[in-house]
Amino acid sequence: MAHIAPKGRKHLSADALFRLVHTGFDNIPDYRPADAEISLSDVLMSAFAMFSLKAPSLLAFDKERAEGNVHTIYGIQRVPCDTYMRERLDPLAPKVLRPVFTSVFRQLQRGKALAAMQFLDGHDLLALDGTEYFSSQTIHCAACLHRVHRNGSITYAHQMLGAALIHPDQRAVIPLMPEPIMNRDGTDKNDCERHAAKRFVAKLRPNHPHLKCIVTEDSLSSNAPHIESLQDYALHYILGVKEGDHTYLFQQVQAAEHAGRVSYYERHDRAARVVHRFRFLNQGPLNASKAEVRVNFIEYWERVVYLCAAGNSSCPTSSTIPLLPPV
Ligand SMILES: [Zn+2]
Repeated sequence: MAHIAPKGRKHLSADALFRLVHTGFDNIPDYRPADAEISLSDVLMSAFAMFSLKAPSLLAFDKERAEGNVHTIYGIQRVPCDTYMRERLDPLAPKVLRPVFTSVFRQLQRGKALAAMQFLDGHDLLALDGTEYFSSQTIHCAACLHRVHRNGSITYAHQMLGAALIHPDQRAVIPLMPEPIMNRDGTDKNDCERHAAKRFVAKLRPNHPHLKCIVTEDSLSSNAPHIESLQDYALHYILGVKEGDHTYLFQQVQAAEHAGRVSYYERHDRAARVVHRFRFLNQGPLNASKAEVRVNFIEYWERVVYLCAAGNSSCPTSSTIPLLPPV
């Protein structure tokens, strides 16, 4: 976060943002008695410090804890050991952290730090992707997802749908509140990324009613119900598709190509000796069963140009070869 604070904007400095996070944690009700050994806000701030310092493990963070820097930088009175941290944080519902994400976002918005993140026509690029952050064959809880293997063994896991504003020219990203992918108590049916994405977009709008976004996701998200959800919440989208998973769409593009309705665009970057090639089709049907869901399709190839010694591109010894498979 510190990277995007321009000089002179004190309320966007790392210190100010850490204080804001701390205040947010202070407002989370502590479920333990007031005489708990270490305050919940100190435990949460310590966990935040661990990620902020990119500590490779709880053990490594324990070392930093002993050296004393985290107290002053993060305003922590007492830093818990890893066991105590787990005991206090495990029972917390992830949703209690939402106001902290929102308050940091508001601060960035007020400080105009989001202006640099605008990607296209006043819209921000919002990347969504599922990730697994815990798995075990022995340790599990009621909220664990479970994968039953052929030999009958079970892998337990926790996943989440991560969300962040990104920009190709900015190193910093701005994370939004992720959506946990976890089973509700008493249900056997696994939660999944698709359901999490639906919940995510429904919760996004109350927190950010005016945020203009282009959602970008992998091909798992290119399904009609999800696209309809995005449209319902006034979100634009750039989603991946795969020929193997979206056969109907690719067949339609092929048919349109034969009918001469596909457009091509090619750009030579002579300095980099690369040719960028695109083909696109507007308003193609995503699949046969939901033909009313129309999408704009774009396919891209990148080719490297090898020139002959004389630099003549029409010489038979010059050639172009694909650098990347079409995406
Ligand atoms: Zn679990």
